[in-house]
Amino acid sequence: MEHLDVLIVGAGLSGIGAAHHLQAKCPWASYAVFEARDAVGGTWDLFRYPGVRSDSDMFTLGYSFRPWRHDRTIADGGSILQYIRDTAAEAGIHRHIRFHHRVTSAAWSTEDARWHVTAKRADTGESVELTCGFLFSCSGYYRYDRGYLPDFPGIDDYAGMLIHPQAWPEGFDHAGRRIVVIGSGATAITLVPSLAETAEHVTMLQRSPSYIASLPNVSPIAPFVRKVMPARWSAPATRWLHALGTQAFFRFSRLRPHVVSRALRQGVQRQLPPGYDVETHFTPRYDPWDQRLCVVPDGDLFAAISRGTASVVTDRIDRFTEKGLLLESGTELEAEVVVTATGLDLLFLGGIALSVDGEAVDVAARLTYKGIMLEGVPNLAFAVGYTNASWTLKADLTSDYVCRLLDHLRKVGLRQATPRNTGGSVSTEPLLGLTSGYVQRSAHLFPKQGSRVPWQVHQSYLKDYRALRLKPIQDEAMALSNPTADAVRVR
Ligand SMILES: Cc1cc2nc3c(=O)[nH]c(=O)nc-3n(C[C@H](O)[C@H](O)[C@H](O)COP(=O)(O)OP(=O)(O)OC[C@H]3O[C@@H](n4cnc5c(N)ncnc54)[C@H](O)[C@@H]3O)c2cc1C
Repeated sequence: MEHLDVLIVGAGLSGIGAAHHLQAKCPWASYAVFEARDAVGGTWDLFRYPGVRSDSDMFTLGYSFRPWRHDRTIADGGSILQYIRDTAAEAGIHRHIRFHHRVTSAAWSTEDARWHVTAKRADTGESVELTCGFLFSCSGYYRYDRGYLPDFPGIDDYAGMLIHPQAWPEGFDHAGRRIVVIGSGATAITLVPSLAETAEHVTMLQRSPSYIASLPNVSPIAPFVRKVMPARWSAPATRWLHALGTQAFFRFSRLRPHVVSRALRQGVQRQLPPGYDVETHFTPRYDPWDQRLCVVPDGDLFAAISRGTASVVTDRIDRFTEKGLLLESGTELEAEVVVTATGLDLLFLGGIALSVDGEAVDVAARLTYKGIMLEGVPNLAFAVGYTNASWTLKADLTSDYVCRLLDHLRKVGLRQATPRNTGGSVSTEPLLGLTSGYVQRSAHLFPKQGSRVPWQVHQSYLKDYRALRLKPIQDEAMALSNPTADAVRVR
């Protein structure tokens, strides 16, 4: 049976990043990337709706090892996909990717210090088996086969076109149509101005408003830093400035929610016509960052509303009708197209069934170690990014930690690294501290975080930088064991 030192699951932004770190820092390690789909890019290949883009800045969504070189802060989905593909091609990573390989189960055996992995081939239906010393899950956080769709009454009565943004029909022409977009999250606020460019009219129908900040699409920081610093310093400095700026804004929002809430609403008011009802449509019932903050580049959503090509309705859906939607207020919204920007169906670890020495692992009952490994599960790490900053900041730190761990094990002649909660008295909290519907719906499927280090998930780049890059591998919770045959012979 084939054996690899490391198996990376997923060829998205995190998986390609993980492979890059591994090649550079552990050149001794054999590895492969198993990807369920037939393409590199994950999220940025799957989502093809009009206007799809990042909503965090690209200087931190880009990799630390391959800085984002453009001045645009927010990039379109196509550019991000190209950036991931180029990263894979330049470093020769694509040679290690096996497409159509969905990892379905992984069984750890302490006796031979290996994961016994099973994957299913989507193209041939075959089962593939192999072993690996370390399993690195970069499988994202949601299901790829379907998005989340609430059980709307009467949905089958609707005679128009119903689209979920996760499965946008290729080449669909929305020009001249009356469209309703259901939702108020990042996807809805991205879609609305983009569709409104050619649609007859786009209505954003939301149950409740979200906080929306307008960001300049061209970074004022990057060109300035390039001017005052030598080339090799300017890229990391720009990344750090953006990372620290976002974190400072997050901290300030938690300390002074009322000040930030007021400032955000005033920002919206300034970009809309006088007398616009900001109270109803753009004043959320929660504090900033209780849910992920939505970002629009150069206020494009507000420009579409001001032009009259887009509008916002805040109401609840009573039911779908043949022609559109009947709302609880009694209003009927007619639409030729309804887009259900109702979110993602979350999934942890790409749905891989784990067992350790014959015992099934219920991931939801485990704590996360430093937000990257699981209590009692050896030689497994996962890349799950921040909810309040760019995903890649954490994914990069995670990959760096995995490489340090692998090198350390090799140096000390051991094969197994298991986080163990021997200290006890750690109470559990949800992994992701957001109140958003999609997080709450799936909280019971995700592992928990503990009330103290190293079991806490910080959502802070600075704290994670310290925990993952600067702290020694060996701490009170990390049990290293299982000597290699060579090490046993030497003893
Ligand atoms: C529309 C949208 C916009 C976003 N914008 C931002 C943003 O601006 N900033 C930000 O920080 N984050 C954003 N995110 C979050 C985004 O998912 C991350 O930024 C990042 O792309 C995640 O990368 P990933 O590689 O970890 O996961 P993914 O991109 O989800 O890739 C995971 C890959 O793993 C594969 N896979 C899954 N399970 C298995 C399995 N069992 N076996 C084999 N392969 C498997 C999948 O097919 C996929 O290719 C956005 C998400 C969405 C949906």
